[in-house]
Amino acid sequence: PYTTLFRSIGPGMSRSLARSLVVAEPLIPFPVERVQQTLITWYRRHRRDLPWRRTNDPYRIWLSEVMLQQTRVDTAIAYYERFVRRFPNLEALAAAPVEEVLKLWEGLGYYRRARNFHAAAREVCEHYGGVVPDDPAVFGRLPGVGPYTLGAVLSIAFGRALPAVDGNVMRVVSRLTGFAEPIDKAAGRKYIEAVAERLVLQSAPGDWNQAMMELGALVCKPRQPSCEACPVAGWCVANQNGNAEALPLKGESAPVQEVDRAVAVLYSQGRVWLQKRPPEGLLAGLWDFPAVEAPWGTWNLPGEREKALLEGLREYGVRRPRILTMLGETTHTFSHVRWRMTVYLCTGEAAPQEGTCWAGRAELERLTLPKAVQRIVALLESAGIWSSGAQR
Ligand code: SF4
Repeated sequence: PYTTLFRSIGPGMSRSLARSLVVAEPLIPFPVERVQQTLITWYRRHRRDLPWRRTNDPYRIWLSEVMLQQTRVDTAIAYYERFVRRFPNLEALAAAPVEEVLKLWEGLGYYRRARNFHAAAREVCEHYGGVVPDDPAVFGRLPGVGPYTLGAVLSIAFGRALPAVDGNVMRVVSRLTGFAEPIDKAAGRKYIEAVAERLVLQSAPGDWNQAMMELGALVCKPRQPSCEACPVAGWCVANQNGNAEALPLKGESAPVQEVDRAVAVLYSQGRVWLQKRPPEGLLAGLWDFPAVEAPWGTWNLPGEREKALLEGLREYGVRRPRILTMLGETTHTFSHVRWRMTVYLCTGEAAPQEGTCWAGRAELERLTLPKAVQRIVALLESAGIWSSGAQR
């Protein structure tokens, strides 16, 4: 349909202008009401019984939406249940120190979500009497609330007719409409968002948004979509064209940046030295071992990595740093960065300073350690440093 519109506009019209017209009035190549009724009926019969679907509490619905960004449903369930046991309402969350919130989040990754959710809880308690605001203009200004969270929470918890466009919905819409343009470019994204907005079932927007997401998660999967079991297959353009798996189209994604990371496990009398990462950026404010980094391929000559690490330790204020041995190598991949870590057992004198601590084996368990750092701790365990490190 959008290609038809391009053609009908004629050869004199630029493609970008044509696209802007399409977005202003998205053409939808199927009967909207029939698709809505069919999909909502399917959802109400087949939806999974998930803990956050058994509540109307906006706080719990909001928490689930925060957790489900970047996290699979199976993984999120246990975290969600633990979280609401410890923080059953916004007041309890707002009253807790952020360190405790991060500890409950440990292993879920993307810790900024937890920090923002905690900050937002405090803001709601301070300015809105602990009641989650249902006004999009107010809710949308809270920390961490982007367009997806806004649409999901307000539609599910308050019945606001707003779309919630996540990766599942982008995929379902692009296939249903047979949209053969990259959806990660501005024009493509606008088209998908405009269609998603037009599709929202006004009488049940929360169920509608969840129905779209559920279809994407269970049936219209990224690979090998189950078109034969799909309730809306009869109206789906990609199904008719036989190119469902090829959609959505995406532009070239940025390559993962390989980082050479030399990590120092500074060991003294059964304890290791940790530092808090800076308050902004990757793993902001979480505990980490001191380390130096360079783009992969920088340290090519023998001894260069070790020399850089010792210089780095001196800059961290460690006196007489010495490398005892290399403990092992491990990697951790974030969305756009891969840490290729070489871990060294070191000694040296580290003066007490803010944002650092000496931790024994038991204390390490109490700290919030991101997965990348847990990999280093696993190396310490397998090298047996807790029993033998002092004698090295
Ligand atoms: Fe997705 Fe296939 Fe259903 Fe189309 S028919 S929406 S491609 S599962």
